[in-house]
Amino acid sequence: MIISIENFPLRQKFGEEKALEMIKSAGFDGVDYSFNEGVSGAAFDLTDHIKKAQKTKAELDKLGLLCVQAHAPFGLKPDIKTDVRDKSFADTVRSIEYAAILGAKQIVVHSIEVPDNADFFDINYNFYKSLQPYAEKCGVRIAIENLVGSIFWRPNRLSHFIRLLDSPVFCDCVDTGHAALMGIPPEDYISGMEADMLKCVHIQDTDGKVDRHWIPYAGVHNWDNIMKALADKEFEGALDMEIIHSFDALPDELYLPLLCYTAKVGKALAGKFEEYS
Ligand SMILES: [Zn+2]
Repeated sequence: MIISIENFPLRQKFGEEKALEMIKSAGFDGVDYSFNEGVSGAAFDLTDHIKKAQKTKAELDKLGLLCVQAHAPFGLKPDIKTDVRDKSFADTVRSIEYAAILGAKQIVVHSIEVPDNADFFDINYNFYKSLQPYAEKCGVRIAIENLVGSIFWRPNRLSHFIRLLDSPVFCDCVDTGHAALMGIPPEDYISGMEADMLKCVHIQDTDGKVDRHWIPYAGVHNWDNIMKALADKEFEGALDMEIIHSFDALPDELYLPLLCYTAKVGKALAGKFEEYS
């Protein structure tokens, strides 16, 4: 099982090259390449994105690091135009193209938040369908995440939506903490997904109250049960550590030790997965 980590807190702090070197030296196999410039979700500068992607890919290859999954900019608004003249839409498309050059098999694209969930399905159906040709052309799947507060609080709702989209280019991303915050133990959410749709995970721990994005074992989730549920689904994706808030307020010199510890936790979890498989 490949162990990866979302890279934006590191990239922001140390720059791309140094961040990738640190991820590699900590013992990760791969990186979840995030196109956000922080938790606001604003896109990082995607001008000349093909050139930038080729440079990132060369860096990954030099280090022997994989990019299995990526994360598109988020915070998209319901008035987004599904047209590349719209900057948010264009940035989403560019992030798909960038991810493809990095070799990612899937990219998480958040659903659009709609006030009171009115027309949620219509707006999001049109949005995702408009991305389908770009994803197909690039050979990258679009993963839809169980966001906190979204209508995907139950696994059957997310499966149902992906079935409606009716293309293997769409899959799901189960975020362990988000499942718990919506009242469903993460292992139950994973068990409730259809195995053929489960291509991505975001591994994070919480206190059960707030979307913490902490390292596993810092919170309340049952990691044995979670790894068993993933093994039961014969999950083939990366164990992707989305522990962004564990870096909050951390002095620079503690980033690498924390990364090393996180990689060790990831490997211990992967060991459990092998045991249960
Ligand atoms: Zn997540």
